[in-house]
Amino acid sequence: MKRNKEMLLVPGPTPVTGEIYDALAQETWGHTDPRFVKIFKESIALTKQLFNTDGEVFVLAGSGTVAMEMALVNTVAPGEKILVVSHGFFGDRFIDIAEAFGIQAETIQAEWGQHVDPEQVRAKLAEGGFKAVTVSHADTSTGVAASLEQLVPVVKEAGALFILDGVCATAAMDEDMGKEYGASNHRIDVILTGSQKAIGVPPGIAIVAFSPEALAAREKLGRINAYYSDIKKWQPVMENPAKYFATPPVNLIYAYHRGLQLVMEEGLETRWNRHTISAKAIRAALATYGMEALADEAIAASTLSCFIYPEGIDDGKFRAALADKGVVVAGALASLAGKAFRVGHMGNATNDMFARAIELIGVTLNEIGYTVDTQAAVRKFQETCENRIVLEY
Ligand SMILES: *Cc1c(COP(=O)(O)O)cnc(C)c1O
Repeated sequence: MKRNKEMLLVPGPTPVTGEIYDALAQETWGHTDPRFVKIFKESIALTKQLFNTDGEVFVLAGSGTVAMEMALVNTVAPGEKILVVSHGFFGDRFIDIAEAFGIQAETIQAEWGQHVDPEQVRAKLAEGGFKAVTVSHADTSTGVAASLEQLVPVVKEAGALFILDGVCATAAMDEDMGKEYGASNHRIDVILTGSQKAIGVPPGIAIVAFSPEALAAREKLGRINAYYSDIKKWQPVMENPAKYFATPPVNLIYAYHRGLQLVMEEGLETRWNRHTISAKAIRAALATYGMEALADEAIAASTLSCFIYPEGIDDGKFRAALADKGVVVAGALASLAGKAFRVGHMGNATNDMFARAIELIGVTLNEIGYTVDTQAAVRKFQETCENRIVLEY
């Protein structure tokens, strides 16, 4: 059975490979069955490896949003203050989460498609009193990537915790909790993600990693206003997955386990480079159709892009005609709705898929009366991929 009948090139969920589907479809074992416990344990170890953390990781049923909530409620108490550094819709989500828990949030929002100036963050933090700073690594609404090199030192110099939303980045973009950004204590404190984006597993698993400093912050909080989201409830399970707190999503854990094995077999750095190269090539190819990415190449994410339509293209018509050909892309959000579309190019999606999608986007444009050269665009994609590989040597 051919399970991937369509190319799911939205910013998550992403295409699931046959091996991961096979893992998902294995017989459901009890969550305390030693055979399952072994798989769960290995998945937790692989997750630690993924983030390169000497802290603790939490792997549980939920989407990226509950992982965002866990990151916040386990580090910041009601009444305390955070700074939200936002590059779009998902960055802003931390404002709502903070509000729900009585956490004060101040915000620096970039204009959509731009990025926040680290000096502005420095100046804001100098006002004092910020417990943590939240940053989306890749904002899924705009395709803007945050610069960890610039932001981590600024946040850590101010003594705040650095919370990174990796939902659209983890396993595709450089994330390393062991890395020191300039000084030995300048590290990322919390990274959170979901299974369905760059890890390439179906939706349903929330993943959060806490550094020793972030774990210490949790200890200091004492009792918190959370139950399922309280990492203290999960700590015994993560240390010994034979223990029970709430039933793990057994089949999804099989899939996640396989997904992480594939990530490690490919190698993290190889995978990060693959994403960088494909992303540049996709953007170069679609530019030949007059479809420019919203974010400048220097700050563009390697996991998804938001493309502005050339004059006169009807968003609904274009995406429906493209979907008829088996290529699913996403609409744009908020003020960009109707004016742009978003392409996810992450996880286990392949360059063959991208080349075919670029061709079909061209075919669709020609169909709706906007004449483009599809073969030239595919060639541009392939050349850009190859040139980059040559440059690597
Ligand atoms: C998708 C996404 C989220 C939300 O994740 P869900 O799994 O939909 O809850 C949060 N942040 C970013 C950057 C995302 O891309």
